[in-house]
Amino acid sequence: MSLTAAATARDRLRIAIQKSGRLSEPARALLASCGLSWRESRDKLFCYGESLPVDLLLVRDDDIPGLLADGVCDYGIVGRNVLTEQAGERAERGLPQVAFELRALGFGGCRLDIAVPEEWQWEGPAQLEGRRIATSYPYLLQNWLREQDVQATVVTLSGSVEIAPRLGQADLVCDLVSSGATLTANHLKPVTTLLQSEAVLAGPQVPFADARAELAQLLLRRLEGVLKLKDSRLLLFQAQRSAVPDLLKLLPDAEAPTMMQVDGADTLALQALCHGAMTWQRLEDLKHAGARGLMVVPVERTLA
Ligand code: ATP
Ligand code: ZN
Repeated sequence: MSLTAAATARDRLRIAIQKSGRLSEPARALLASCGLSWRESRDKLFCYGESLPVDLLLVRDDDIPGLLADGVCDYGIVGRNVLTEQAGERAERGLPQVAFELRALGFGGCRLDIAVPEEWQWEGPAQLEGRRIATSYPYLLQNWLREQDVQATVVTLSGSVEIAPRLGQADLVCDLVSSGATLTANHLKPVTTLLQSEAVLAGPQVPFADARAELAQLLLRRLEGVLKLKDSRLLLFQAQRSAVPDLLKLLPDAEAPTMMQVDGADTLALQALCHGAMTWQRLEDLKHAGARGLMVVPVERTLA
């Protein structure tokens, strides 16, 4: 591709995702379930979209907001933690916001927590006054400290934040936590949460002015379809007509169920698309309320 072609080729959409790490596989899987497929380049940094003109750029997650700001990419899949941290930094430098959270994607869940040495008795944020806090999220931490009216020293580290207290670099940390195992291994305990995070689709809030607009709409619509169905199942069962009102009360997350008469007037076959998790407990409750032959069927996609 020549340079001029690259500069004018705005009829393709470019999405930045993490090259390798926690978000890379789920991000690819999500886009693939929207019907995208790619041909990988030899250096594996760029994947050329084959089924649709939607290309992938594989990068470090921290680079994604910047690539969006520079217009190198149109969308990015990145943790809310990284997006809001960098948005805060930009705001502090007086730069306009360009990358917004458009849609939470339901994976990569974690929290940005304050974690203190295990032996501390936690009494609240005021306890942090005058302390040194190690973090990779200085903006989010500063902002929170300001809200709490606490003066503390922020020690910015790019990695291995959790060992900072043992190394004497800090008294406590402000770090990402999912299971908490890393904290425990470092004799730290989480005491309060600054941010609930997950992977999000980041991009511009205004529609594109060229051929990307239609493509973006198509992609966002498919994404919506896939995400909406994530926990959705088709529930099939039979019941006596008289039991149906009670059964429907147990299915508040169901779209208007289809009912068919089976034998005589009394037995009905029902099918309902349910959007909430279909746990064993729910099935047992339904059975108890008169549902028979319950069957839970996965739903791959719908098109309204
Ligand atoms: P790189 O910068 O090389 O792309 P990284 O080390 O910054 O990789 P990962 O550790 O793969 O990135 O984390 C990527 C994202 O995964 C985080 O920004 C966060 O949104 C999310 N995440 C989910 N759980 C955790 C966790 N326990 N620790 C860190 N990040 C987590
Ligand atoms: Zn990173």
